[in-house]
Amino acid sequence: MPRKGVRASKVRRTDEGTWQKWCKGPTHPPGGAWVDFSEYLFAKTGRLKGRPRAQCKDCENFHHFGYRNRMVKAERVRFAVEELVRRLGVAETNRRLGRSQQWLWQFRNGRMDHVQKRTAVAIFTTLWAVRQAGEVRHRDSIFHGAAMRGHEERVPRHKNDFYKTYLDSEGEGKRQQRERRLRERAPR
Ligand SMILES: [Zn+2]
Repeated sequence: MPRKGVRASKVRRTDEGTWQKWCKGPTHPPGGAWVDFSEYLFAKTGRLKGRPRAQCKDCENFHHFGYRNRMVKAERVRFAVEELVRRLGVAETNRRLGRSQQWLWQFRNGRMDHVQKRTAVAIFTTLWAVRQAGEVRHRDSIFHGAAMRGHEERVPRHKNDFYKTYLDSEGEGKRQQRERRLRERAPR
């Protein structure tokens, strides 16, 4: 039972037995989204002790760096951009974010210290939509621009099917070597 004076928050238990809470913070599509308890900080003191806070960590951070600022540090949104590129490829990320190819190139090559707040919002909104849809494209489809050419998209089934980028921690040479090996081993 919710304690008196404590507004009941919207929570649910998933089929997997984990708990989620509805977050209406700024990094979700309008209206909010279900977010796992593990993505929340919990109140340590006060009458809400032991309960997840109003918004998830990402949203709290967003307020932290976005509130009253027109610009957002590029480093704070980098993970989101890289995840989009990993999932969608460069061209599709450009398209979804409504940015130019040059913008993305400059951003990813560290030529930008800050992005506009509305850009940050676009990045997060897009990422959360893509995550919710579980959207991820096969490496080969990204390379060949399958969707644009009207070809069928390949479905990624193995970790090597996912799009890797040059910003991965693993060295590019090592990656190419591994890919060559894989190609030789499993000719398509
Ligand atoms: Zn949130």
